[in-house]
Amino acid sequence: MNGSASAERTIVALGGNAFAAPDVPLTMEHQFEFASKLFQSMTPLLADQRELIITHGNGPQVGQMLIRAEQARKAAYPLSLDVCVAESQGELGYVISQSLQNRFSELGITRSIAPLLTRVVVTADDPAFHNPTKPVGPWYAAEQIDEIRQRGYPLIEVPGKGFRRVVASPRPREILEVDSINALLESGAVVIAAGGGGTPVTRQSGHLQGIEAVIDKDLTSALLGILTDARLLLILTDVPCAYQDFNTPQQAPLGHLDITAARELLEQEHFAEGSMKPKIEAAIQFSNRPGTRTIICNREVLDQALSGQAGTIIELSSESTS
Ligand code: ADP
Ligand code: MG
Repeated sequence: MNGSASAERTIVALGGNAFAAPDVPLTMEHQFEFASKLFQSMTPLLADQRELIITHGNGPQVGQMLIRAEQARKAAYPLSLDVCVAESQGELGYVISQSLQNRFSELGITRSIAPLLTRVVVTADDPAFHNPTKPVGPWYAAEQIDEIRQRGYPLIEVPGKGFRRVVASPRPREILEVDSINALLESGAVVIAAGGGGTPVTRQSGHLQGIEAVIDKDLTSALLGILTDARLLLILTDVPCAYQDFNTPQQAPLGHLDITAARELLEQEHFAEGSMKPKIEAAIQFSNRPGTRTIICNREVLDQALSGQAGTIIELSSESTS
């Protein structure tokens, strides 16, 4: 069964808030609950049976894996970050496919769902490796840091909280499973791919090797959206839209933007590194093709955002606004 021909091929990037909230403990039960609520609010995108790719973040899940690995250090083998990302694709691929299948069945829709382990090539000479910025895993006390540093982990100190490992966030260059993803889409399956930004691997003289890094899921989603020729990139996060002058008295919501305006706001540093900035960068890359658009919004305003009444909507030029 193929997706509806009239509806646009869509890639949805789910943020960490899709499966967790600051005031709710992270448990498997809660992740299933959140996923079920999420697919309730995504009903318009499910009911028309459009071709659909789902990507997702994994920060909280990988954080918990690293805590487990640290606690079990004497009893179980350690996990490198590429392995953690791959495992998180398994965990969340299960949560998402189960919850989505249940929603489809409530809607009376029979559709296959294909969660796919996805590797993403990064380059070992990416400038990000000179300046690791992404904090991961447990907090360490001052007396532990010599031992942690011996493992080769760079650390940052946050006054009052302790020390934390930081890793590089290199750019996604290539998605190894893209042909399989396209074939699955053609077969009518909903594809869950590139979880956590993809498992980071390098290629040297044709040889693939996992590397300790995390790739931004929004940038990978834009790349995957381009490689699958998707028309809509929907970035579901925990704010209703992007703002200019965020967190200042002048804060103002950004509605419809063309790529030129988005680039200007990016250059004026309205968007924070590692959170909103990669979403705007992803939007600029993805929407740089006629007939495409990127929507940044939360679950609560999704319905209105799909009809252009809410969220931040980024397109090549404002004339192409539907
Ligand atoms: P996700 O898990 O969905 O990727 P992130 O935390 O990475 O979520 O990004 C969303 C966050 O970006 C918001 O919660 C908000 O705090 C932050 N943010 C930074 N700059 C902006 C901005 N200019 N407009 C809106 N949100 C912003
Ligand atoms: Mg994020």
